[in-house]
Amino acid sequence: MPDFSIGVDLGGTNLRIAAVSQEGELLEKINLSTKVELGRDQVIAEMCGAIRQLAEKYKAAGRFLGAGIGVPGIIDRECGTIRKAANLPGWENYPVGAEIERRLCASGLLENEARIVLENDARVAAFGEQWLGAARGVPNMAIITLGTGMGGGIVMGGKIWHGMNGMAGEFGHVTLEPEGIACGCGNRGCAEKYASASALLRMAREAIAGGDAPALAKASSMADFGAQSIYNLAIEGDVPSSEIFRTFGRYLGIMLADIVNVLNLEMHVLGGGAAGAWDAFAPTMFDELRQRSIVYAATVPDDPEVLPGRPRSSVQRSSVPAEKSPAGAGARPNSRSAANDEGARRTIITRALLGSDAGLYGAARVAVLAG
Ligand SMILES: [Zn+2]
Repeated sequence: MPDFSIGVDLGGTNLRIAAVSQEGELLEKINLSTKVELGRDQVIAEMCGAIRQLAEKYKAAGRFLGAGIGVPGIIDRECGTIRKAANLPGWENYPVGAEIERRLCASGLLENEARIVLENDARVAAFGEQWLGAARGVPNMAIITLGTGMGGGIVMGGKIWHGMNGMAGEFGHVTLEPEGIACGCGNRGCAEKYASASALLRMAREAIAGGDAPALAKASSMADFGAQSIYNLAIEGDVPSSEIFRTFGRYLGIMLADIVNVLNLEMHVLGGGAAGAWDAFAPTMFDELRQRSIVYAATVPDDPEVLPGRPRSSVQRSSVPAEKSPAGAGARPNSRSAANDEGARRTIITRALLGSDAGLYGAARVAVLAG
């Protein structure tokens, strides 16, 4: 049995804990719900209980190398604290990392070199995709997660780019509209207000209120109305729904153009549930990118919209939740266009491969590399 570490994905709703071997094999995963209403101590107690359970089980056969905790919020890595976390009330400025370490030490689990590392959830997702997913073997990449909000992470030279204290990669709070919609961060016009699942719902509500979106209005009366419903209408040819995704793609393209111009990375991976609507937003996204980024225009692949390993026809039939793929399974993208560019390096924009497990793999990996 191999040495292993543990990755934790602490979300506002779900708490997931996985044991992952050093070679990237998922040994076991525990899915719990985050009982935010019971308070911080209870959530930490359940998390530590699950870490202990997995560590004790797999320790018999391999060394326990540590645990990485992916948290949705602004992390101060030096202090091991969460500075801001909208979905975890009462956790701000609390030394989460040290507290988990204290509890696991008290139960005798951290007697060797094992470390507890606190990290932002999108940063660990970037690291997971870079280790085992869409950007496997690509040293310089970024992820943009399109979920309820928008997260981001940058990997440079095979390591998470932290900036001064772990806050680098906040693509969701890049300004796209100077006088735009107010954001919870205090700014106006942030990217996550225009290119996220909640942005899709806002645009749908506005289209319905405008009175010219009967199919959307009908769908919105269903209990399960969400981003997937808008996508389903868009691929059926509903004009207002298609327009929503075109707008979404435009904003995403504007933001990507800035990132490509500034960082000139080899690959940009779009993750999160809304990235599954690729075929509905990718055309306008790539139009904006070509028009707005001189670096992208100089490095555009021959067929940028075709996802690696997937023929164009299957791309057009893909659906929102079809993002998952087991670690290391086929579909490994080339960072070079295969056709005719004689080895010239191209800027690849593609979809994530690991789904919500990216964060678990990445969190497990940061614990190993921190040791
Ligand atoms: Zn913001």
